[in-house]
Amino acid sequence: MPNPEWRDDAACRGHNPEWWFREGAYSLRAKAICASCPVQVQCLQYALNNREQHGIWGGMDITDRRPLHSRAPTRISCRHGHPLTADNLLQTAAGPRCLRCKKAWDHENRHKRRQEREKARCQ
Ligand code: SF4
Ligand SMILES: [Zn+2]
Repeated sequence: MPNPEWRDDAACRGHNPEWWFREGAYSLRAKAICASCPVQVQCLQYALNNREQHGIWGGMDITDRRPLHSRAPTRISCRHGHPLTADNLLQTAAGPRCLRCKKAWDHENRHKRRQEREKARCQ
């Protein structure tokens, strides 16, 4: 396997690589390590570019990655087009999510709740 330079910063370095290719408790352990990895995005992008069919990459196993595979080109961004770079990444149990969209969503919800409260007060 080629050795991309981001591998130097990989959180999985020094851990048993088999955890990334096993089922069950091992894979959970691997995903937990990925969740705090500084090169999570690069790792996931690499797996998508190479259509990796095995193992956990960027915190996602093949089942998690399949929906991303079917999309072309395989550039990772949210459905609003925000690139999922390391500073715009929210790690969830379901995989990486767009932080910008999450913030916008939270803001919108707060705004709606405030409006509802104000409306209730005026009645
Ligand atoms: S995201 Fe996970 S598999 Fe990829 S480099 Fe980081 S720790 Fe290793
Ligand atoms: Zn977004």
